[in-house]
Amino acid sequence: MLIIASSNGAIGMDQAIRALKNGCSALDAVEIGIRLVEANPKEHSVGYNGYPNILGHLELDASIMDGRTLDSGAVALLRGYPYAISVARQVMERELPHVLLAGEGAERFAREIKAEQWDAMLTAETVDVWREGLKAVGTTQWVDRQSDIIPEITDETPLLDLVTLATDPERVEGTVNFIAIDGNGDIASGVSTSGWAWKYPGRIGDSPIIGAGNFADNRYGACACTGMGEMAIRAGTARSLVLYLKTGMPLREAARQAMMDLRDLGGEFIGGMNLIALDRNGEHVGMSSRAGAGYIYQTADMNSYEECEREVVRIPGRWGGVARD
Ligand code: ASP
Repeated sequence: MLIIASSNGAIGMDQAIRALKNGCSALDAVEIGIRLVEANPKEHSVGYNGYPNILGHLELDASIMDGRTLDSGAVALLRGYPYAISVARQVMERELPHVLLAGEGAERFAREIKAEQWDAMLTAETVDVWREGLKAVGTTQWVDRQSDIIPEITDETPLLDLVTLATDPERVEGTVNFIAIDGNGDIASGVSTSGWAWKYPGRIGDSPIIGAGNFADNRYGACACTGMGEMAIRAGTARSLVLYLKTGMPLREAARQAMMDLRDLGGEFIGGMNLIALDRNGEHVGMSSRAGAGYIYQTADMNSYEECEREVVRIPGRWGGVARD
């Protein structure tokens, strides 16, 4: 029994490993661990109180995958429901032939299955951070509504410049990854995020895209990503890593190859990327494009989780075609 997670999963690790020890499935453990991160108001990149999109709306993305069958469930652009991972799991488990529901349809589904809904998804402090973020890039006009100074953004306001100026991938990224192997040797993986802060409305990242930010297959292993989702979508990162395992590559080499595929991407917008992965024998690894990043793991016989360093595969950044780093 083993769980690996991104470092921000620490808050959920204890309950997740306890669930495994009590005989729960890898899917249960992944969902339990991620829900605790989604409910954590201090975590601004996942679930409740994540940073919103450019219009100030919180839109959540999540996915979960069952390595036994490759069954998957995902939601994108989900508003008003903090536990996106649980809604994603229900997409997988209900009598529904779909894998991914987005926007109004995802909300309708969440309502229909009576998922837990919260009226307020952002604290006043987080709304302030959003407002200040927009001010910092000198947005449009500001209006005073009941002494609440908010940016004047209408349906006609051009958002393209605002998004590229306000979105700073070095500052506002984050997602939670959990991958578990249970007592039966079954593997499951889950990913949940509020996506990039200040993203363009309707933007969907890699987290709910099976094969991009999340992939699990009992026969080989599993991988989950955090970082600039657009890159993982383009390179099919999580699926690539598992496919590299299928060719017989050792785990660490498979992970390096998946990172190098990202490094070789062309285009004008290239940011940071991180992944965690394990193989069916319980070997695990973390990779990052930046030095100093870690991930956590815990087995059934450990009293608490331990942190491991991620290996660095440098990916030179570009923003609007201009080199950064
Ligand atoms: N991967 C997430 C996304 O692109 C964000 C992140 O991990 O920073 O939505």
